[in-house]
Amino acid sequence: MKINLERLEKNLKELSQFGRNKDGGIDRSLGSEAEEEARSWLLEKALDMGAAIKIDAMANIWINWKRTNCENKPITLGSHHDAVPDGGMYDGALGVLMGLEILQTLKENQVPLNHPLQVVSFTAEEPNPFNISTMGSRGVTGKLTLEQLQASSHLITGESLTAAIKRAGGNLQGLLKAQLRKNDMAAFIECHIEQGRNLYDNQLSAGTVTKITGIYRELITVKGEANHAGTTIMEHRHDAFLAAAQAALVVEETVKALNRRDVVGTVGWFEVSPNSANIISGNTKFIMEIRFPEELIKQKILLSINKEYTEIENIRGLCFHREIILDQAPAPMDDRIMKIIGEEISKEQSPLPPSAEESSGLEFVEHVPMLVSMAGHDAVHMSDITKTGMIFVQSIEGKSHCREEKTDSKDIEIAGNAMLNAVLRLDKELTYENLN
Ligand SMILES: [Zn+2]
Repeated sequence: MKINLERLEKNLKELSQFGRNKDGGIDRSLGSEAEEEARSWLLEKALDMGAAIKIDAMANIWINWKRTNCENKPITLGSHHDAVPDGGMYDGALGVLMGLEILQTLKENQVPLNHPLQVVSFTAEEPNPFNISTMGSRGVTGKLTLEQLQASSHLITGESLTAAIKRAGGNLQGLLKAQLRKNDMAAFIECHIEQGRNLYDNQLSAGTVTKITGIYRELITVKGEANHAGTTIMEHRHDAFLAAAQAALVVEETVKALNRRDVVGTVGWFEVSPNSANIISGNTKFIMEIRFPEELIKQKILLSINKEYTEIENIRGLCFHREIILDQAPAPMDDRIMKIIGEEISKEQSPLPPSAEESSGLEFVEHVPMLVSMAGHDAVHMSDITKTGMIFVQSIEGKSHCREEKTDSKDIEIAGNAMLNAVLRLDKELTYENLN
């Protein structure tokens, strides 16, 4: 049994038309007409297949292949259908449509499963004008409060999130009732493009994800002293911008010293005040971000950064006010699902020779490429309530969040068939586990 690649690619192409802009990118964030059109298209597809549909409080779309006499909890496949501004046609869409393709293949072949199979398309996974990313998956796993959601509105149109969710078929008032609890489902698998170039550099089609990176962010306000740029001699300055710039370099140096591909640090946002050519900055804010695979690594980096920052404060005679705005722990994938996906991938794709494995930047276990996801995903939140795994598919040149995003048919096919077989194995193994 194989997936129908032609049908899957046709679906990808059709979905990509919603929000397609004149430059060829896709604009499809929550609240937009394109997002609504994409939803209707998806619902129609599901109905055509004879599947049952449910839209929850967060407007997440659940597509079910209902089985009679089935007591088991469902196995869920999916991702998200929204896109970053000027984004590509694979990020998110591939995971949803791959789920749908697997469901359809199994249905056509009348494969008797022991678990109900469902596909989910999450609401607003990407950063969006409502300023809450992974909104749908966080919402249904109890990580967002009703107050927080109700307080949010569209940055440009001003539409309340409550109204946007309602337009999409959800209802924030039902948030508590919609909460997923531990063991509400048997497993969750998300297929996604890699968003990095590990697979591309090694000419591999797919890999299994070991964990999803932890993300730590601080909003740091440097309080210095604003003064005249001409009359204040260099020794008398307390330049908040320069201290912040130095602090940003400290992040880079500290992270680089670890020399790991799965640890990165970034200062991507600065706000300089008063931001004028003839005034020394008296106040500068910046956001420091670290991504890491283990808590211990984060702590080590922070210890070193703390020491350096104190030194900058002392030498420059100013002070850093630090506020943690995100502290998301790394999310390990379920061992068994990781292994099943990995084994099925290795049956479909030719492995690297062991000598090449060593310098590949990937981790190999019995020739199966295993990698850390350096981007966040809905799977992070799903891993709190169920056994979760991810399959990564090569993205050409590692490109994502841009209109150039592209994945080869061959790679989609290999990943799809590996995922199909992984679902079949998981269906059996989880049943066996329940019986014992
Ligand atoms: Zn995505």
